[in-house]
Amino acid sequence: MQGLMQDWPLTVDKIIDHAKTWHGAREVVSRSVEGPIVRTTYAQIHARAQRVSNALLALGVQPGDRVATLAWNTARHIEAWYGIMGIGAVCHTLNPRLFAEQLCYIVNHAEDKLIFTDLTFLPVLLENRAKMPTVQHIVVLTDPDRLPKDFPGALCFETLVEQASPDCAWGGFDENTAAGLCYTSGTTGNPKGVLYSHRSNFLHTLVTMGSDVLGIKAADTVLPVVPMFHANAWGLAFSAPAVGAKLVMPGAKLDGASVHELLETEGVTYSAAVPTVWQMLLTHLRATNGKITTLKRVVIGGSAVPEAIVRGFRDEYGVDVTHAWGMTETSPLGTQATPNHLIAAMDPEQQLQFKLKQGRAPLGIQLKLVDDDDKELPHDGTTFGRLKVSGPFVVGEYFKGEGGKILDAEGYFDTGDVATVDEHGFMQITDRAKDVIKSGGEWISSIEIENIAAGHPKAELAAVIGVAHPKWDERPLLLVKLNAGESSTPKEFLDFLEGKIAKWWTPDDVVFVDDIPLGATGKIDKKLIRDRMKDYVLPAAAAAAAPAVALAATPEPKIYAPQPEPPNLEAASLEWTPNAAQRIEPKPEPVVAAFPAASEAKAGEAPADADVPFPAEPATHAGPGLPPAESVIAQPMFAPAAPAKRVSPGRARFADLYLKLAAIVAITPAAMVAVAFLGVQLNLMDRAAFVRLALDLAPQVALISVATGVVGLGVALLAGFNRFWLRGLMVLAISAATLGAYVVARNAGAQAPPAAAAQPASR
Ligand code: AMP
Repeated sequence: MQGLMQDWPLTVDKIIDHAKTWHGAREVVSRSVEGPIVRTTYAQIHARAQRVSNALLALGVQPGDRVATLAWNTARHIEAWYGIMGIGAVCHTLNPRLFAEQLCYIVNHAEDKLIFTDLTFLPVLLENRAKMPTVQHIVVLTDPDRLPKDFPGALCFETLVEQASPDCAWGGFDENTAAGLCYTSGTTGNPKGVLYSHRSNFLHTLVTMGSDVLGIKAADTVLPVVPMFHANAWGLAFSAPAVGAKLVMPGAKLDGASVHELLETEGVTYSAAVPTVWQMLLTHLRATNGKITTLKRVVIGGSAVPEAIVRGFRDEYGVDVTHAWGMTETSPLGTQATPNHLIAAMDPEQQLQFKLKQGRAPLGIQLKLVDDDDKELPHDGTTFGRLKVSGPFVVGEYFKGEGGKILDAEGYFDTGDVATVDEHGFMQITDRAKDVIKSGGEWISSIEIENIAAGHPKAELAAVIGVAHPKWDERPLLLVKLNAGESSTPKEFLDFLEGKIAKWWTPDDVVFVDDIPLGATGKIDKKLIRDRMKDYVLPAAAAAAAPAVALAATPEPKIYAPQPEPPNLEAASLEWTPNAAQRIEPKPEPVVAAFPAASEAKAGEAPADADVPFPAEPATHAGPGLPPAESVIAQPMFAPAAPAKRVSPGRARFADLYLKLAAIVAITPAAMVAVAFLGVQLNLMDRAAFVRLALDLAPQVALISVATGVVGLGVALLAGFNRFWLRGLMVLAISAATLGAYVVARNAGAQAPPAAAAQPASR
């Protein structure tokens, strides 16, 4: 027997319809790619998206056609997104951080018919236009004045919107119709397309709206820093209009200062991004003594959230962090670490241990852990196994059947992650089955780099692993085993890679080793290499472990992403993310070290000396019988950055207030002298009053200010020295300088004739 409820296809056009009807006046604010802040509303977005649909139909786009977007998070991108999906075409979000060849491969594989692009990405399209034969139109998300003249056939978004007819009949198709397409840059082989349906997106939206999941509300102001081009901005471009939250779209500027500015000027209460972005924001806040006044909650995912970030937000800024896990294949939200009733009853320190896990599955996601024989493993918090997922918004098969059958007999998808699940159902990723490196939230394929490096005539074997980096989470480290009798330098290998891989994939360092261990199946044993290199620290990471003074002096970092050269058009005046190559940290001279001989460790087993810091005693040769290297630099021992001091927000506020008062006390003597001088100058004060104020009282206040300054330094120490040291020291320095000036003046006065001592006041 069938139910008798209405047949109401779950299509995403209904989301923006709902937003227009019930939250039409709610604002959507964008930092435009052209620069200015642009304000619109859900009602306007709806109206313009309908025009986009009509424009697409007029350009020959049919239901099922793939229409790509190569764009930052802006309102125009949302208009294109809903305009495409509303008519049953497929919105294919292109990741601009991909190497041009990958981009071409993806466009061709998807057979994109049209590309909406921001001005920022025109150069890469211009250069590769001929390699994208299926693309019939390129629409630039800009106004007519900025449309480049030297891009043949480029259409202007604003002109199309203006000229298109207003109303368009959206929907009316099956809810299983494809709505979106996003390619994963997987470990092996070509990128694979995940083809979302209207139904899967709709259900994902409903699930993520849950208060224990993303939990955004109508009253929230949401800043999705996570890009729409990577895993659908974690669904926020659907869930924000669905609940009627104000949306703040950050455009191309994702550095700490720009994100902070938007947080404060737009009153953002909720935001989501990868750890790298939050690290940049924290660094910026600490360096500038910036304030967070409205932000209440941030969701962090894409890679594991470092403890220091959770503590930094919680203790210094009173912001709650929710850790989430997911992947392109899960739409993307898979789990989130929101507490159950038992965890909620724990003290904050105990809760933190759960916040650092990737969390539990919401309704709609089923998880299981299996061993290599596909046998289910217990949820005891210690047994780890391959993580598998199933659900209505989990991939069933890749676009065009790429990769063949991807579900097991029970319909579960193997995530490629290795995890544990504890008794609370909290999942924790312990390792990646894949060996790709995650840098600034984006994948770098280790295999691709090592395959090219191994092609160097002097190389016998090459391996690439990800090592911790303070800004980008991970950066690639290239290990090379040279042919017998060869010697080389890191530069030689980095030069060899240049032009063959995306610049931002360039390894941060090259280490020459005696041995690259192979596993049982003849594959490089990355696990063993990582174990051996666990105490290796990248030059950049070593620098970041240095005191906060150095950190504060570092210029604000920007998102680590390859960018094409600025185009020769008006848009060249836009903010360009510097070329990744310029941002690779200076490298030390060649580092030559040796692994223990292969015979010392069996494949898959930790070597006997696995816990000895690998670079502790750097060898002076690059291979058996080799001459000493020209230059051998001892690697710094692993020195993890001290975790941020835990400070209660109350204590931080007290310190802030105290130091403000102390600063006032510190400048009071100078102010008193100034007032006394002015008073005499303006005949408002006689000499006796001058002497009393400037020469009697002011020195006493100066003495007090030294005492308050010393106490201030103590307060700064207790309330997070990293954050308050500068102010504490300044207060003390001003007080000491004022007092010093009095002592000097008094001594000088004692030596001078008595009349001269009072001269300053005489006119
Ligand atoms: P992507 O499809 O590019 O979003 O990458 C998905 C992969 O990122 C997952 O399979 C995990 O390996 C990794 N990942 C995502 N979120 C987390 C997280 N919170 N902690 C650790 N790894 C994560």
